[in-house]
Amino acid sequence: MSSPERQTLERWDREHVWHAFTQMAEYQPLFIERGRGCTLIDIDGREYLDATSSVWCNVHGHRHPHIDAAIIAQLERIAHTTSLGASNSTTVRLARRLVELAPAGLNHVFFSDDGATAVEAALKMAFQFWRQTTPPRPEKNLYVAFEDAYHGDTLGSVSVGGVARFHALFRPLLFDVLRLPAPQLYRLPPGITPATACDYYLSQLDQLLRARHPQIAALVIEPLVQAAAGMLVQPPGFLRGAAALARQYDVLLIADEVAVGFGRTGTMFACEQEGVAPDFLCLAKGLTAGYLPMGATLTTDRVWQAFLGRYAEGRQFFHGHTYGGNPLAAAAALASLEVFEAEGTLARLPAKIERLAAHLKRAAALPPVGDIRQRGLLAGIELVRDRASREPYAWEERAGWRVADFARGRGVLLRPLGNVIVIMPPLAITLPELDRVMDVVVEGIAMLDAR
Ligand SMILES: *Cc1c(COP(=O)(O)O)cnc(C)c1O
Repeated sequence: MSSPERQTLERWDREHVWHAFTQMAEYQPLFIERGRGCTLIDIDGREYLDATSSVWCNVHGHRHPHIDAAIIAQLERIAHTTSLGASNSTTVRLARRLVELAPAGLNHVFFSDDGATAVEAALKMAFQFWRQTTPPRPEKNLYVAFEDAYHGDTLGSVSVGGVARFHALFRPLLFDVLRLPAPQLYRLPPGITPATACDYYLSQLDQLLRARHPQIAALVIEPLVQAAAGMLVQPPGFLRGAAALARQYDVLLIADEVAVGFGRTGTMFACEQEGVAPDFLCLAKGLTAGYLPMGATLTTDRVWQAFLGRYAEGRQFFHGHTYGGNPLAAAAALASLEVFEAEGTLARLPAKIERLAAHLKRAAALPPVGDIRQRGLLAGIELVRDRASREPYAWEERAGWRVADFARGRGVLLRPLGNVIVIMPPLAITLPELDRVMDVVVEGIAMLDAR
C-alpha cells in the first residue's frame, strides 16, 4: 500500500475508531490484514505468531479451509434470518450438536451475540425462573460471584464481575452481588496452604450459602480458571465442591465457559474435568472458532419447563438479540466442531500441553517470575517486583506490556493482563510454533530483569 494511503488510514483509525480497552491518546495503529494458520500478517507484510488466539477465540487457526468453505456455502443460501419465533436449519443443527457435546441435561440453547450476552441471558433466566417455578420463590434474586471475576462488559455481567480496575467506576449502575474471594493458590490468606486451600474456599462458600440461600438465585463461576483475573487457576476439586454445594442449597449454577470452553483446558468443556453439569453453560469466544460473533446459553429441562405455558400467561423469556442464532455464525460453529473430529484436535493437545509445561518450567527460573499457572493450553506467567514477598509491579510500570512490546518486535503477538503474560495460542499451534512463542517470551522476561 502506498504510504500516503497508509497514512490516511492510520489517521482515520486514530480519529474515528474507538478501540476497546485502549488509551486512544497513546494508540499506535497495528493493521492486521491477513492470516494463515497461527500467523497474522500486517499491512506491511510483517508476520506475527498469534499467541493469544486473537484474544482467546481462535481455535483451528486462521483461514481454515473447512470453516471458510462452510461460511461461503451458507452465504450462498442466506446470511441472516431472525430467530425470533422462526428458524434456520443450520442454527438448529448447531443447537443439536451443542446439546450432544455439553454436560448431560443441558438440552436447550438460547443464542445471542457474544460472551457478555450469553452471561446476561443466564442471569435473567435464573431470575425469571425463580418467579415462575412451582411454588414461586421470588425472594431468590441475589447472585454469588467471585472477586476478580470477569463475565463481560454489559451492566449485568459487570455487576457479577469483580475486576476493580475495570468495574469500580461503574459501581453506582450495578446491582448488589454477594462476593467471595477468588479461589486460587498463589496469594493465599494467612494460615492457608495450597493443601488446605480447596477446603478453605469451599467452607467460605458453604457459610455464605447456608446463611443466605433463601435469597440466592444463582452462583456464577468461571470453571477451573478465572481467566481475565490473570489466569487464576482454582484448586483441584473446587469446582466439583462448589457445584455440590449449589445443588445442596438449591442455588442455580451458572458456568461461564466463554474463555475455557472448546478445548482450551484440554477437554471440550472445563466442567467435564470435575464431572460437573451446571444449570447454565455460557459459551462464546471459541464457539465459532474465532470467526464470527456468537454467544450461546445452554440450560436444563427444569429451567425450560418454568417458562412454558399459554401465551396469555406471559411466561416466555422476555429477552433477545437481533442477530442471535445468525446462520453464518452457526455455519462457522458447526464446521469448527467438525474440524475437532476430523483433525482429532483434542487428542493432539496433550503433546502441546506438555511442551508448554516444559517451556514454563524454563520461565519459572527467571527472577521476575513470581508464579506460573497453567491449565491445558492456557497459561499465565505472573511477573513480580520481588519474588520472596510476592510484591507486584505497580501497574503503571507496564511490566507485562514491556515484554509484549519486545515480543512484537520479534514477531510474536501477546496481550498481557497487567503483570501476567498470557499464553493462549490457537489449539492448532504446532510444536515448532509453540517453541518460537516461548523462546521469545523467555527472552522478553529475561530482558525485563536486565533493566
Ligand atoms: C471474554 C469473556 C466474556 C465476555 O465475552 P465477550 O464476547 O467479550 O462479550 C465473558 N466471560 C468470560 C469468562 C470471558 O473470558
